[in-house]
Amino acid sequence: VIGDVPLLAIEQLGKRFGGFVALDTVDLKVPQGQRLGLIGPNGSGKSTLVNCISGTLQNETGSVSFDGQRIDGFPAHRRARLGLARSFQLPRPFRTMTVAENVRVPLIYTVGARAGVHLTQSELEDRCMEVLSLVALQDKANKNPFDLTQVEMRKLELARAMAAEPKLLIADESMAGLSHSEVEDIVALLIRMNERGVTIIMIEHIMRAVMAFSQRLVVLVSGRKIADGAPEDVIKDKDVVGAYLGT
Ligand code: ADP
Ligand code: MG
Repeated sequence: VIGDVPLLAIEQLGKRFGGFVALDTVDLKVPQGQRLGLIGPNGSGKSTLVNCISGTLQNETGSVSFDGQRIDGFPAHRRARLGLARSFQLPRPFRTMTVAENVRVPLIYTVGARAGVHLTQSELEDRCMEVLSLVALQDKANKNPFDLTQVEMRKLELARAMAAEPKLLIADESMAGLSHSEVEDIVALLIRMNERGVTIIMIEHIMRAVMAFSQRLVVLVSGRKIADGAPEDVIKDKDVVGAYLGT
């Protein structure tokens, strides 16, 4: 029991690129099990925030704590081993590997590298197929990722994140360019992952997906959090409406 300690706690987070302030004193606490939606106009700092959480970027000020432990300063692979997974806005599978091999990589290097874990070859195979079944790609196991459709590629990206058996999954724009039914498919998939106990932060522009998924909604504008609360209230907030109308 972790009591009142949130799974993720971001305090006063700041990040600049040269003189440009990408994140400005962002505070965010995410309790275990939550489905959080994160929205904001293009360039508002959403991916930068994900990068500072996952370790792709280093924050300059403030702190990131995960599971009660300070993690800013840790390299990305160490954060991954602690249970932090993210998918990339532009999927980047390994081109020379099959779909199944792409899922095996995080299994070996993230799960397999955890203290006290030893995965046998058959356990690896089983878990790999389990994750591929979760995203309904089991029939594509031996394909090259570049033979997949766009939605299948997004599912592979999520499968690679899920293969690491994360406590927290951050999905950065997994649905851009997908059809209505494909969007519904990905939302259902993320909800299924959440029901398996994974806390999820979903970054998305497609509002019907955001509203179907989110139990809580956070809005980032120009690197600042301007709203945080129940989705139905947040989307009516006058600052949020103003930010989207460009006023
Ligand atoms: P979002 O994901 O909300 O669209 P980003 O976090 O990608 O926004 O970007 C926030 C701002 O920071 C943008 O103005 C972007 O151009 C800038 N930015 C992001 N990454 C870098 C970088 N590596 N170097 C310089 N500027 C960056
Ligand atoms: Mg982005």
